[in-house]
Amino acid sequence: MAPKIIIPRLVGLLNVVMKILLVEDSATLRHAMCQYIREAGHEPVVAHSGEEALQLLEDTPVDMIIMDVEMPGLDGFETTRLIREWLGGHWIPIIFLTGKSEDDSYREGIEAGGDDYLIKPISPIIIKAKIRAMARIAQMRDQLKQLNAELAALSQMDSLTQALNRRTFNEQAEHEWLLAKRHQSPTSVLMIDVDHFKPYNDHYGHPAGDECLKKVTQAMKSCLNRPADLLGRYGGEEFIALLPNTDSAGAKRVGQCIIETVRALQLEHKFSVVAPVVTVSVGGATCNYTTGHTLEDVIKGADRALYKAKNRGRDCYQEEDLTSHKTLLISARSANQMRQTVELLQDECNIVTADTSDECLEIAENVRPDLIIVDADAVFHNDNYLCRQLAQRRATSTIPLLILTDSDSPEHLLTASTVRPQTLAWLQKPFTRERLEAKVQSLLG
Ligand code: GH3
Ligand code: MG
Ligand code: MG
Ligand code: MG
Repeated sequence: MAPKIIIPRLVGLLNVVMKILLVEDSATLRHAMCQYIREAGHEPVVAHSGEEALQLLEDTPVDMIIMDVEMPGLDGFETTRLIREWLGGHWIPIIFLTGKSEDDSYREGIEAGGDDYLIKPISPIIIKAKIRAMARIAQMRDQLKQLNAELAALSQMDSLTQALNRRTFNEQAEHEWLLAKRHQSPTSVLMIDVDHFKPYNDHYGHPAGDECLKKVTQAMKSCLNRPADLLGRYGGEEFIALLPNTDSAGAKRVGQCIIETVRALQLEHKFSVVAPVVTVSVGGATCNYTTGHTLEDVIKGADRALYKAKNRGRDCYQEEDLTSHKTLLISARSANQMRQTVELLQDECNIVTADTSDECLEIAENVRPDLIIVDADAVFHNDNYLCRQLAQRRATSTIPLLILTDSDSPEHLLTASTVRPQTLAWLQKPFTRERLEAKVQSLLG
């Protein structure tokens, strides 16, 4: 069910006392206008010139401006242009007062950012009516802005559970990830899945299932106490939490808190083989040094850990040590080749890819992968450039290199790179997953 938005009633709001800035160089008019403003139930704030108005606005918030046009120094139009520029997206009504009645002057006033234009002499009745009309517009704009903000907030939520929806979670998680990368702080991800939820739905019905998910979400939220922690609904009964600045011990604590809090809800589940109540399984992964890992790697790690938790009997926490996963750098000249190789290895290893030789060298130096896999084309291209560079740079000279080649007699390739302290191995294309894995295993030792 979509959440209801309450439209606030306008009635009564018009009685709010507004601060109205009056910019007017004539003392007589100032005096008269101030009186009208007070009679209309509002509070006048006075500026004698455009310059004074700008200065005053720096520290005095006002709700409306009544602006004389003809003034020495900055005139009313120029002052208004500057105010509009300065206020940016924030709108307040500006009404001009002028002795000029020409059409052009009217047009200029509206173009300068004015909302209404009154010709002197002005009757007190008209000025009060204008103030009232403008106040109404200003208030409607405020309400619209507030409703828009509420709508924006709602569109970020999953409507059933009030966890973030997947899209918003991804966006916000990416933002936190960039911060963590900048500060080199540890980041953890938890994947949480309700155990045997299908039989729960089948026996207690879908509405009961929905209620259960709401309660489970509340329980999870109660374990996430830091303002930067994020909780998203990732799929039907699967949730994801991002815990910035949290190491693996912290992640485990939060994961176990979630398991215990859900269990303590004591939601009857007669059809679970794990417990007589609803339980969850949690998988966690932590990235300590973000270099070399992507957020996706950590999420995948948490997913693998969740899988383990399910296999180990559910209602428990399992973690995946990302650092025990070897990091492979893959660079192939053909995007197809690269994608295929990545797909074959990504479940077992952290994969970093490079499109060009220079990118490969840069990443190799910074990330220091456990193994580099490259196409023969790429590695021996340009007079063995990549091969020589990898061998010559201290940071990369000992990283084993696996070369994918079409050739069935790679000897000529090996002799092509005579300078090479690193292990050099080759694999003939096309290859199966098993052959690739076996080769990688042997090179990783
Ligand atoms: P496991 O312990 O392995 O996770 O078993 P499971 O039964 O929970 O796993 P499975 O993924 O097979 O079932 C998930 C079920 O969750 C399927 C569906 O009936 C239910 N489900 C998914 N989304 C919703 C939802 O929004 N509301 C309700 N009521 N049920 C949902
Ligand atoms: Mg004047
Ligand atoms: Mg489940
Ligand atoms: Mg599931």
